[in-house]
Amino acid sequence: MTILVFGSINMDLVARTPHLPAAGETILGTQFSTVPGGKGANQAVACARLGSATQMFGRVGADVFGAALLQALRADKVDVSAVTTTEGTSSGVAIIAVDDAGQNNIIVVPGANAAMDAADVQRLQHAAAGARVLLLQLEVPMPSVLAAARAARAAGLTVILDPAPAALLPAELYPLIDVLTPNEVEARMLVGFDLDAPPAIERAARQLCERGVGRVVIKLGERGAYFVDGTSSGYSPAFKVNAIDTVAAGDAFNGALAAALAASQPFATALRWASAAGALCTTKRGAQDAMPDRAAVEQLLRLQPAAAA
Ligand code: ADP
Repeated sequence: MTILVFGSINMDLVARTPHLPAAGETILGTQFSTVPGGKGANQAVACARLGSATQMFGRVGADVFGAALLQALRADKVDVSAVTTTEGTSSGVAIIAVDDAGQNNIIVVPGANAAMDAADVQRLQHAAAGARVLLLQLEVPMPSVLAAARAARAAGLTVILDPAPAALLPAELYPLIDVLTPNEVEARMLVGFDLDAPPAIERAARQLCERGVGRVVIKLGERGAYFVDGTSSGYSPAFKVNAIDTVAAGDAFNGALAAALAASQPFATALRWASAAGALCTTKRGAQDAMPDRAAVEQLLRLQPAAAA
């Protein structure tokens, strides 16, 4: 496998209602759907759709959601042979209510994701020899993220960390990261000040770099992304698309970044792929369903070479 993804696998349970229920209130919803999610699984699907051989490391519960989540990953050609089923806990779920005004309430229950430990890191270690890139996020316990980064670094992989959802990182994690990809909210959490204007964005990226990260890429939504490494820095402009749903744009971005780096593309090219995949993801509803395939990314790169330059 070329890309290893160590992270969360969730089922999103989405109910639509005219209004969100108050405490103690029971209301009738209008629609219900189950949608595979979890940042780890989303990023794995993003990589696989772009044609990278991708293996997932994670856990599901011994319930109907676990089986469906594995099936969804297999359908996208993600290798799930190292995903284990944990007895005595549920699969990770996000229980989401969305009202007619688009407001939502979300309860995330990590379930089996919270059981990720040294055994999962050991499975990762066994697969590391043939791989190029490790993708990490923060929806599984921090000690396992740290141990996975250490194992991958020792095996010579490129380590990409998406520090989402926003959380502080242990100091020893930074030097194990080749590419750190916060969005503005996550970057603010890490540096402790608002990224309200370009000087603040640039200062935040520099500060994170100084903590030992190889490269920092701050994802700026429709304003693109800002990157810094030891020798260069700059903005990677966003592609112009008709955005209807920005859910999982960051996951598409990270998956494509990994796919391009695993294919030995130069960093500037990898950023273009990532920006194109992030933009395309916003043109469709959903998370894993919205991940673009390789043909779509290549077409956007051809159509908007200026945005990609
Ligand atoms: P996250 O989903 O982690 O909050 P962003 O919203 O910044 O991350 O999106 C990730 C990337 O996807 C951006 O850096 C950008 O390249 C692309 N992207 C996001 N929203 C848009 C948009 N409306 N138009 C074009 N590209 C977008």
